[in-house]
Amino acid sequence: MHSRSFEIVTVGGGLGASAFAGAMAKKGVRVLILEKEAQFKDRVRGEYIVTWGVAEARELGIEAALLNSCGTAIPFVEMGFGPRNLIETTALQLAGVSFFHPEMQETLLREAESAGAEVRRGVSVTNVQPGANPSVMVANNGREERIFARLIVVADGRGSAARKWAGFSLKTDPHPFHFAGVLLTGVSGRKDICNFVFNPEFGLVGGLVPQSKDRFRAYLGYATDGSFRLHGGEKLGAFLAQSQKVGPMFRDCYTQAKSLGPLAVFDAGYFWVDHPYRDGVALIGEAAAVSDPSFGQGMALTLRDARVLRDALLSDSDWDDAGRKYARQHDTYFHNTRTVCCWLRSLFQEQGPEADARRQRAMPRPFARARSLVRRTGIADG
Ligand SMILES: Cc1cc2nc3c(=O)[nH]c(=O)nc-3n(C[C@H](O)[C@H](O)[C@H](O)COP(=O)(O)OP(=O)(O)OC[C@H]3O[C@@H](n4cnc5c(N)ncnc54)[C@H](O)[C@@H]3O)c2cc1C
Repeated sequence: MHSRSFEIVTVGGGLGASAFAGAMAKKGVRVLILEKEAQFKDRVRGEYIVTWGVAEARELGIEAALLNSCGTAIPFVEMGFGPRNLIETTALQLAGVSFFHPEMQETLLREAESAGAEVRRGVSVTNVQPGANPSVMVANNGREERIFARLIVVADGRGSAARKWAGFSLKTDPHPFHFAGVLLTGVSGRKDICNFVFNPEFGLVGGLVPQSKDRFRAYLGYATDGSFRLHGGEKLGAFLAQSQKVGPMFRDCYTQAKSLGPLAVFDAGYFWVDHPYRDGVALIGEAAAVSDPSFGQGMALTLRDARVLRDALLSDSDWDDAGRKYARQHDTYFHNTRTVCCWLRSLFQEQGPEADARRQRAMPRPFARARSLVRRTGIADG
């Protein structure tokens, strides 16, 4: 069966695809979203958008929908040096926003649908064909259908199969860190602070992101040689015990905590495609570039991809040209983000005498204060 009635088809219906598709549909473009999950479940994904990502969400017209349904504005961030008020101290004067990822996906798919996009759920894309007349193959209940469009937007996430089918090659810069996450309830912690605290002494980073309905997404990043994985429910005790070493606020907050979902671990590092456009196929979100979750820039980057691609397509009737323009911009802002996050990694995560000396030179007072807090609370022995 053949169909030519869509200008854009997205592979996936996550944050990137639905934000982009909704924004294009609002401009009258005929968009089809193909999402394999009939119902979203907890995959342990990003649940805190940093302020520049919130600005992108505003630009895409989805900030209000997020805040009115699943999202919570989080005005403070704590990195172990005292709470920082983001509204008062950032150029954008915005709070961060948190949500439960599956609820955000449902919200944004609904938004895209009400803007005019067609959404098909429970269907899997099985191939992508770039070219002058690009297309996707879709499997639905044992039947296969080829769908043509002017542009295919691949947004199938960090393990993207579609980028491989479309002939893109992946570059990798793995870091010797793992990043684990689990959804908890019963945590004693402030509901207006997102905690991302680094403890270079142990090579740890602890994250605690409050959400609605007394839920908290807890993260733990740790240095590894690959032999130790905090993965699976039976490792929850070890996850919570290791988290206590991060800093004073993590010592008592988990005493009554219970898990509400899977405990999953991921490799940290960078995995990306240079120039994520070719022959009628554009990659966005984690299909284009995965950033180190320790620094929480992934959703902001994904929303920027959606906005930059939208703007390129709306300002140029030659979509091949627009795709290339998007890809050039993507290369610049992704590599700028990567460069800064790698500096932060050297400063906040690396261990050993050389890294200690670097911290001492760059930020003597905050690190001295953090170290003395750790000693006073006896966390190092715990
Ligand atoms: C542990 C962890 C913590 C993170 N923490 C943060 C954070 O605090 N802040 C932050 O900004 N970012 C964070 N991130 C990154 C964030 O989760 C991603 O940037 C974001 O989810 C990327 O969105 P996406 O739309 O590209 O991909 P996804 O959210 O993965 O969506 C892809 C969609 O495509 C669908 N799909 C896949 N294959 C097919 C197919 N063949 N056919 C049809 N549909 C398909 C999937 O079902 C899914 O719905 C974190 C990531 C991890 C792993």
